[in-house]
Amino acid sequence: MLSEVTGSRPGLDLAPGTLTVLVGPSLVGKSTFAVRQFPPTWRICLDVLRGAVADDEADQSATTVAAAVQDLLLDERLARGLRTVIDSTALLPHVRTKLLARARYYRRPTLALLFNQVSLEECQRRNAIRPRKVPPDILRWQHTLIPTAQELRAEGFDQVLTVAADATVHAAAPEAVAR
Ligand code: ATP
Ligand code: MG
Repeated sequence: MLSEVTGSRPGLDLAPGTLTVLVGPSLVGKSTFAVRQFPPTWRICLDVLRGAVADDEADQSATTVAAAVQDLLLDERLARGLRTVIDSTALLPHVRTKLLARARYYRRPTLALLFNQVSLEECQRRNAIRPRKVPPDILRWQHTLIPTAQELRAEGFDQVLTVAADATVHAAAPEAVAR
């Protein structure tokens, strides 16, 4: 029963109402991780919503409506104190700012899961075999946008964890302090 769901799968212990934001380029394994790690109802996936709008998960013309549906679902889940995982690249700071503002409005804890350890070359290899292709220039651009854990903390995430290439979760290593 859904009301009996009290925590995530082993490895991540999320407080009720936690907003988890996956952050990372296409093909790093965000959706694979989320599907394995969390109950299905927690996950709001922008690609799936694009598919619901346009029968095509890659159709960027469906993004505005898909994002509106995402926000509607997110608000309701946050209001109810349910755990929610936003499965999109979330590489643009203003996208993360809007998600954080929603969590702050409902006074919910926030977690960023940063996928920053899969190389561009590995993503290009995966892109060649996955049916849904990402244009190569977009993939390269996405890798220039990967934030540091420190930047995510500065944006206001309560907690930042990194997800390694083998999908294990780690406390984000503190960045070197500039001297
Ligand atoms: P997008 O942002 O485009 O939705 P994504 O980050 O959600 O991408 P996935 O769809 O989860 O990425 O995975 C991309 C490809 O990489 C898939 O073919 C998947 O099987 C493979 N993959 C996912 N995780 C791993 C892993 N830990 N090791 C090796 N391959 C993986
Ligand atoms: Mg995905």
